[in-house]
Amino acid sequence: MIPSPLRLRIERAALIANWRTLADMSGAAACGAAVKADGYGLGAREVVRSLGEAGCRDFFVATWAEALDLADLGLPVSVLHGVRAEDIGITRPANLRPVLNTREQVLRWRNAGGGACDVMVDTGMNRLGVSAAEVAEGLLDGLAIETLMSHLACADEDVPMNARQCDAFAALAGRTSARRLSLANSAGIALGPDYRFDLTRPGISLYGGVQRAAFEGKIRQIVTPEAQVLQRRRVAAGETVGYSATFVAETDTQVAILNIGYADGYLRCFSGKGGARAGSAALPVLGRVSMDLLAVGADAAPQLREGDWVSLAYDLPATAALSGLSQYELLTGLGRRFDRIWD
Ligand SMILES: *Cc1c(COP(=O)(O)O)cnc(C)c1O
Repeated sequence: MIPSPLRLRIERAALIANWRTLADMSGAAACGAAVKADGYGLGAREVVRSLGEAGCRDFFVATWAEALDLADLGLPVSVLHGVRAEDIGITRPANLRPVLNTREQVLRWRNAGGGACDVMVDTGMNRLGVSAAEVAEGLLDGLAIETLMSHLACADEDVPMNARQCDAFAALAGRTSARRLSLANSAGIALGPDYRFDLTRPGISLYGGVQRAAFEGKIRQIVTPEAQVLQRRRVAAGETVGYSATFVAETDTQVAILNIGYADGYLRCFSGKGGARAGSAALPVLGRVSMDLLAVGADAAPQLREGDWVSLAYDLPATAALSGLSQYELLTGLGRRFDRIWD
């Protein structure tokens, strides 16, 4: 296979270290891993394999297609979107189970013979989940529930809604057959012991996301996009670079053209703002990001030439602040043209 001119370097040891950190912060609760959207863009199979070896036993995806892609790894996977009519006929390996979200899904699962499942209860986010009132009416009676869960709307902020959701969820303890309760996503883990229950479900922080001060200095960056230089050129003072000629060289400027663009998830919001590195040299993004190409200033890297590789600045919290994209979008937008290289 021809190597791609762009690659994602993914540091396996840092992924595992992040999971261990989050598991420690989860106290006595087990620590799972959200691997939906292909492991937040990094490759769900590699993430599950790595964290499975580290001891993780609870994985979460959005859809059955995602779950079936992981089935042969033999680890428990929960499907957050539950069972639609279209999903019920699937031959389900025993290690995959749905997270039931609605009355219809509960009835559908029961009618199909039931079996181990998880259930999502809404505690105020008004996204997915049955209501506490439906639980009180006995909707879940007789189900073999492994994990009863709810999801926090504002775990990355300090707002009263967190405690309200936590209290509403805690009030469901003992009201169902559930073996375990689970509320916290990554940011929820940092909200303290009350939020841990029996199982935590981090996603973004496994992959380097830092949304709360408690994670600063503890969660490591695991992903670095790298792109190859296609051309090096000199742009004379007064000339411009790229679409709409938005960059105008004030002096003679060395420019490297890189094999990455907005079709790879390096979006136009990085125009004139993003940065790359060649060794210790900092290379600023010049002008507009194109679909497949990016211009960076190369005055600081006199040795850089065609075929060399540079790494894009991609520390998640800093890059989110710079670009206005969320830390989640920065990962899940990374396209298919990257070779994903696990170090
Ligand atoms: C995506 C998701 C998570 C993980 O959230 P992060 O903010 O990435 O830690 C946990 N639980 C549910 C239900 C999710 O959809």
